[in-house]
Amino acid sequence: MTQSEDKPIHMSPEEFRAAGYAAIDWLVDYLKEIEERPITSDVKPGGIRSALPEHAPETGESFQELLADMDSIIAPGITQWQHPGFYGYFPANSSPPAVLGDLLSTGLGVNGMLWATSPAATELETHVLDWLVELCGIPKRFHSSGPGGGVIQDSASSATLCAILAARHRVNRPDEITKLRAYVSNQAHSSAEKGLLVAGITRQNIRLIDTDETFSMRPESLEKAIKEDSEAGYTPFFVMTTVGTTSSGAVDNVEEIAKIATQFGAWIHVDAAWAGSATICPEFRGILNGLELADSYAFNPHKWMLTNFDCSAFFVADAQPLNETLSIVPEYLRNSASEAGEVIDYRDWQVPLGRRFRALKLWFVLRSYGAEGIRTYIRSHVQAAEWFTEQIRNHPKLELSVEPTLSLVCFQHVDGDKASEQLLTSLNDTKKVLLTHTRLNDNYVLRVAIGSTYTTFEHVEALMQLINDKVQN
Ligand code: PLP
Repeated sequence: MTQSEDKPIHMSPEEFRAAGYAAIDWLVDYLKEIEERPITSDVKPGGIRSALPEHAPETGESFQELLADMDSIIAPGITQWQHPGFYGYFPANSSPPAVLGDLLSTGLGVNGMLWATSPAATELETHVLDWLVELCGIPKRFHSSGPGGGVIQDSASSATLCAILAARHRVNRPDEITKLRAYVSNQAHSSAEKGLLVAGITRQNIRLIDTDETFSMRPESLEKAIKEDSEAGYTPFFVMTTVGTTSSGAVDNVEEIAKIATQFGAWIHVDAAWAGSATICPEFRGILNGLELADSYAFNPHKWMLTNFDCSAFFVADAQPLNETLSIVPEYLRNSASEAGEVIDYRDWQVPLGRRFRALKLWFVLRSYGAEGIRTYIRSHVQAAEWFTEQIRNHPKLELSVEPTLSLVCFQHVDGDKASEQLLTSLNDTKKVLLTHTRLNDNYVLRVAIGSTYTTFEHVEALMQLINDKVQN
């Protein structure tokens, strides 16, 4: 096939190889020098588009030209999520084995919607999620040897949506959707509300349960709300607990909440999107006490387990309600393996049909670092956060906003909101670090989420030095 008389349509294998080496070289050099780059971009809205040609090229360009534009157009418009000074939101991990696993997945270019469309994609996924069950002390009921098991979703938001859809199906009253009520704490991630709305649950049927001084859901408030609703003819169908809230890292009491929800037959979903990775260390597993009572559980290896976005590990104790609600079998997807019921077809475990071979990158990470490597990594961040916490605790001008969980530290200026906001701006203006904020007890609060792949204790010391300099000025 040729594009014109003398230019073949595709790169030759040797051109592909050379371009591939060049792309890896580009990325390795970029990451090697990432600390020298400003952590946030100075680009103004529209700035990137104005540097791009108005029309797509009529004839193909060389790979060198593409890489040159990565330097001149794209790199200046990147927020450096892989910079060791990244403490914003929750970090999104990337690591060499994950990048390479993802590259191979992309190169293989498979769509793992059915077992039959790539048996290795499905079986590796089931297998590495079983590894996670074992590695993280997740209860056996989430292992694929029983009626449930794990699946990789693109995001925790999708995992929550799937849990909601399965819960709605299990109630088996589709005609009475206006009578279904869901319960999450007022600190739950916004994806819970979004998922509920997508599933057809109206805002008035989403109850935001209040929280205690640690921002953890009050089980007694949940019980009161569920009882009231039940007596008023509503069906409590879905309760989500959060282990490690986005704002402050608060941990709901899964055990107590699950005991209440179970009495009313509600589905219990546990969202540990960020904190779940830490349970690879046995000493941090206490945050998930009661998980054996839950129906579903999700955490994101793409947040803190060295695996590139997107990779959210979602587990169900019983896959039947999930599969029943999501399975639609048109003629063109029928095949003997599915029909024999011997295989998992992951299209029935998610909303879209198509799916990437995401298990490869997770497999590469688990094998390359080993459980010990990942534990050392997580512990290094938690230890750095403990040290940082003590610096804040003893600081004359700063105070903790709440006792930290794992590696998320929230603090504020003793002089109030304006001083806190100014401190955040002055830190971020250095372009050496990136912090984000939240509000707790109606105070403006700075968040330091230690969890970027290349962040070490020395970086956290440097952050503290920077904070001291800014507070004094
Ligand atoms: N749940 C919690 C507790 C989170 O912190 C986040 C994101 O930070 C999410 C859910 C949503 O994660 P995702 O971006 O994977 O949908």
